[in-house]
Amino acid sequence: MTGADVLLLGSEPNDPDVMRLLICEVPAARALTRHQNHGEACVWCGERDSLAPLGGAYGWRPHGCPLCRRVRLTYLSAYVSWKRHVRDCEPCRIEWCPDGWSLALGHGIAYEVTKKPEPVHCACGCPLPLTSRRLRPYTENDVGGPRYSHTGPCRSGSDPGPAPSVAPRPEEVP
Ligand SMILES: [Zn+2]
Ligand SMILES: [Zn+2]
Ligand SMILES: [Zn+2]
Repeated sequence: MTGADVLLLGSEPNDPDVMRLLICEVPAARALTRHQNHGEACVWCGERDSLAPLGGAYGWRPHGCPLCRRVRLTYLSAYVSWKRHVRDCEPCRIEWCPDGWSLALGHGIAYEVTKKPEPVHCACGCPLPLTSRRLRPYTENDVGGPRYSHTGPCRSGSDPGPAPSVAPRPEEVP
């Protein structure tokens, strides 16, 4: 272990919500090499030195190098901080607030560093750029990794329009 590793470990977030999401950032096992699936190479860049565990279960123990791990933890910390704010902030859920916006900007920078695909696809299917003022973390269930939502109406093709139940069914028409 080098001095840089100790520094990184020393500043590692101990937030259980962040650590729980880390394993969700690992690519699917079928997309990894044998070395990566056996924790012998970083799952993101293939580096073989100074690896640290990312979680996992049942003998699947993927590892990451300090740099890649740091990039993902920074992103997940930004996501979790933003999500916690939005969950308790009425203006953010309806429209916008300056505190939420600064968290969104921090999240956007951390997201870009991970080189994850853009635009972000919300849970409803709508694609949104990171800079959209409508983008929000998904505040309900995030099992399976960070998810997103947005304020305002859906603009995707998946928008079902007005609920059909509003119209009376033929047998109910007098
Ligand atoms: Zn790496
Ligand atoms: Zn807010
Ligand atoms: Zn939508």
